[in-house]
Amino acid sequence: MAGACERAGRDVDSVRLVAVTKYAQLNWVRDLISAGQTALGESRPQQLAARAEELAREIDCPIEWHMIGHLQRNKVEMVLPVATLTHSVDSLRLANRISAVAATRDKPAKVLIEANVSGEQSKDGFAPDDLRASWDELCELPGLNICGLMTMAPRVDDPAQARPYFASLRELRDELAARSGAENTLTELSMGMSGDFEAAIEEGATIVRVGSSLFEGLS
Ligand SMILES: *Cc1c(COP(=O)(O)O)cnc(C)c1O
Repeated sequence: MAGACERAGRDVDSVRLVAVTKYAQLNWVRDLISAGQTALGESRPQQLAARAEELAREIDCPIEWHMIGHLQRNKVEMVLPVATLTHSVDSLRLANRISAVAATRDKPAKVLIEANVSGEQSKDGFAPDDLRASWDELCELPGLNICGLMTMAPRVDDPAQARPYFASLRELRDELAARSGAENTLTELSMGMSGDFEAAIEEGATIVRVGSSLFEGLS
């Protein structure tokens, strides 16, 4: 991450690592936390909630949980109390549900909106044009604090091939930021995984979500 920041002329503190622990054993997660990595990402609500509860009981330092996977509307109540940031708001219906649940709590929900910039059928997220069309409605939802955008690039052989997708997410963010009120700052760009996080940093990622490469060789 530091090398990519240097190549891009960026401050190393301008990018944060969310360690994706969805396939990690709980012991490996404890080791990560001991090593000082306290921003963790899970893609399944049940595992997120269970691990948050378990580790809060046994560990003193605050852990920042990130919800990074597809979220069903009936799981929003499970996720909001534990997630610092939900990266994967991929529809208006989900955004409405989060807004409604947030209204019953005293805190706005911090979220990222997931965009499908590659247009692949298999990917979740708003198509860019749908997001443009839905943007004003999203911004007006009470209790929703939109902090930025998230995407997953297609799998490619050479990470350099992922760069245009990361660049399009940044450009989409810039465009939407110009239309947003002060409460939705859109400062965050969550993009880049094990195979392509350096390319993502070079295109402006502020959060990279890295899982498998942290745990290589462990089993
Ligand atoms: C699993 C996952 C990651 C991490 O992927 P790795 O290739 O293991 O680094 C990042 N983002 C999302 C949304 C994921 O589901």
